[in-house]
Amino acid sequence: MNLKFDVIIIGGSYSGLSAAMSLARSLRKVLILDSGLPCNRFSPHSHNFITFDGEKPDVISSKAKEQVLKYETVTFEQDEALSGEKTKDGFAITTKKGHTYSAKKLLFATGVRDVLPNISGFAECWGKTIIHCPYCHGYEFKDAVTGIFANGQKAFHVATLVTNLTKSLVIVSSGEAEFTLEQRSILQKHSIDIIESKITSVEQTNGAIQSVVFEDGTKRSLSALYAALPFEQQTDIPKQLGCEFTEFGHISVDLFQKTTVPGIYACGDNSTMMRSVAYAVSAGNIAGGMINHEISIEMF
Ligand SMILES: Cc1cc2nc3c(=O)[nH]c(=O)nc-3n(C[C@H](O)[C@H](O)[C@H](O)COP(=O)(O)OP(=O)(O)OC[C@H]3O[C@@H](n4cnc5c(N)ncnc54)[C@H](O)[C@@H]3O)c2cc1C
Repeated sequence: MNLKFDVIIIGGSYSGLSAAMSLARSLRKVLILDSGLPCNRFSPHSHNFITFDGEKPDVISSKAKEQVLKYETVTFEQDEALSGEKTKDGFAITTKKGHTYSAKKLLFATGVRDVLPNISGFAECWGKTIIHCPYCHGYEFKDAVTGIFANGQKAFHVATLVTNLTKSLVIVSSGEAEFTLEQRSILQKHSIDIIESKITSVEQTNGAIQSVVFEDGTKRSLSALYAALPFEQQTDIPKQLGCEFTEFGHISVDLFQKTTVPGIYACGDNSTMMRSVAYAVSAGNIAGGMINHEISIEMF
């Protein structure tokens, strides 16, 4: 199959669907390819997205998909994009199911993959009681005994935000603590201890953390743990096509979500450190509008 679209959107979650709606409302022929693995699928509830606060993550994306698919120029395929190439008049994408699709423009809305540490019990709690963001889940753990699994500036930054939600905080630096003298004295002022011992396991029941166990055999009871985890891009295709990346590993984009390769755009988690549903929807909306603008100028 080699169908010609105006735009292929790789990633059909919040940012991809948002972009698709902008494009569909200008009658652009859009193909959305989605492998169905949004990063927040581990969380029972999503917060801080107005109109859907506290809703299940897939309820939000299903509603978005239902609205987007009402537009006659949108096609949605449950499939994974495996490779991409530049063609004479655009791009071709080949998928896991063996299809090749072509389009004038490409939009990557592929999100990122969080790299979980190899600690027993950690994955079970991820997105439930081991959380990444105070704005998404912090309110639900206000006044709770809370840990911060991070070191140095990252840990200090989270501590700054979270002290307003709970006074019962401990930093688990899992290795030699890397704080300036000034940071140490501020942490001390807020009675925030630093534990340098490495976590060997997480004790939990059905994703509810109870305690973290350290390599020296001690343990600390916790009701929540913030974790600043490394991430990976979900696809190498932007790299294959020559897109540049930031020093943090995000796809480099300008204010209009354009990558460094003409005709290729990116939006959502893959190109920002501002990870939220609201931000992904906003970036998708901008990307969709700007791609339509570019096509409109070229065709006029
Ligand atoms: C555990 C957790 C909980 C969170 N909770 C909240 C919250 O409460 N509130 C909030 O605002 N934000 C929350 N976030 C952040 C929010 O989920 C993300 O910012 C948002 O999902 C980003 O949307 P996105 O469309 O960029 O990427 P994603 O939602 O991650 O979607 C990317 C999509 O691209 C698809 N894809 C990737 N590669 C390919 C490929 N090669 N071919 C086809 N499809 C592909 C994936 O399958 C996926 O469907 C949370 C994040 C995590 C990790």
